Amino acid sequence: MSEEAPAKKELAAVKGTKDILPAEVGAWQAAEAAVRGTFELYGYRELRAPVLEYTELFEKGTGATSDVVVKEMYTFIDKGGRSVTLRPEYTPSVARAIIEHRLDLQPAPLRFYYMGPMFRYDKPQKGRYRQFHQIDVEVFGEKDPAIDAEIVEMAHALLSRLGVGETKTLVNSVGCEACRPGYHALLRAAAGAKRAVLCPDCQRKIETNPLRIFDCKLEPCREAAASFPRITDHLCPECRDHFDRFRACLDLYGIPFEVDPTLVRGLDYYTKTAFEIVTTKLGSQNAICGGGRYDDMMKEFGGPDICAIGFAMGMERLLAVADITVDRGKFLYIAHLGDEARRAAMTLARQFRRAGIECLLEYKVRGLKAHLGRASKLEASWVLIVGDDELKAGRFPLKEMASGTQTVGTPEDLIRTVNGDA
Ligand SMILES: [Zn+2]
Ligand SMILES: [Zn+2]
Repeated sequence: MSEEAPAKKELAAVKGTKDILPAEVGAWQAAEAAVRGTFELYGYRELRAPVLEYTELFEKGTGATSDVVVKEMYTFIDKGGRSVTLRPEYTPSVARAIIEHRLDLQPAPLRFYYMGPMFRYDKPQKGRYRQFHQIDVEVFGEKDPAIDAEIVEMAHALLSRLGVGETKTLVNSVGCEACRPGYHALLRAAAGAKRAVLCPDCQRKIETNPLRIFDCKLEPCREAAASFPRITDHLCPECRDHFDRFRACLDLYGIPFEVDPTLVRGLDYYTKTAFEIVTTKLGSQNAICGGGRYDDMMKEFGGPDICAIGFAMGMERLLAVADITVDRGKFLYIAHLGDEARRAAMTLARQFRRAGIECLLEYKVRGLKAHLGRASKLEASWVLIVGDDELKAGRFPLKEMASGTQTVGTPEDLIRTVNGDA
């Protein structure tokens, strides 16, 4: 814990967290607007849960064998002596909200999306933060594989809106309660026979969760896993049919995909469909969207027996591959000359803002030349000049900075001019 010692001389953000400064926030806002604009077209609505939950929610929900719970939860005791955790993922909170507010009594399916910070207490490394941001989509109460394809198509709609190209879609089925135990037994036997070449972590997984051996990035484990039986060859008729119909819907949407039987998803409550969208835009292959079905999760929470499917995208990674150009936007600068003019500038600014025009008012007393210099430095689109003579006349010069054109008019005239220009 010595690395955590707060022996800092200067103020600094908490380790693993990061400020999003005004210069970067435009890209975030553009991405968030694209998320809302895209998902709402499909009838999805935002649900905002607290960032803090009782620890047991995630212990139960994320699964006792999940690495997230074992190693990475940001857990602490609050002043009331309760163990609380900053959410490491969104789904358990949503499941809790559905149960708590009996949203399951509303007509199914429920289509939700969420955006916000998640917290994992792992070793901070380049490009990974303890507070990171995620976009999540979830549908509750729809068994039809068409919905699986709908969210994949919707993810692609968002990615194309954000200019993320060079994508590839990987799909798999991880089976269900009926077919998974039989497959696990086969997998255990195959993995057991290769025990000697597997890493200690994977050796443990032979007993606890052999599917997750496919997640191991170590070469000997990957090599061994390549010869293991594939889940797609051992699906029960229901899972097989679901998988076939899911892929037929992707064909209908014209979404090319590859079946990847090693795609198992990180969390334990997945059933049937699993998918991932990867991009090669940053050179190596990066997953930007991962999702799947988890039909048994709500039951395991002690909630109603409703099925669920969803996906998550990491905001930081998405922004790294998105093609977003952020424009500062046009704005008006008011050059006021004298006390009376300064007061008038304040009410004029309000009038322009009410008309939807961004108006920057600085209160420092300056001469006209200094005002124009300042406006040009700030890259104002227009300057409105307010002096004693203009006030008497009720008509003001408006200078368009790029062209140098000057128009004179009443505030109403100038609002029309600016809004016509913008
Ligand atoms: Zn099955
Ligand atoms: Zn391994």
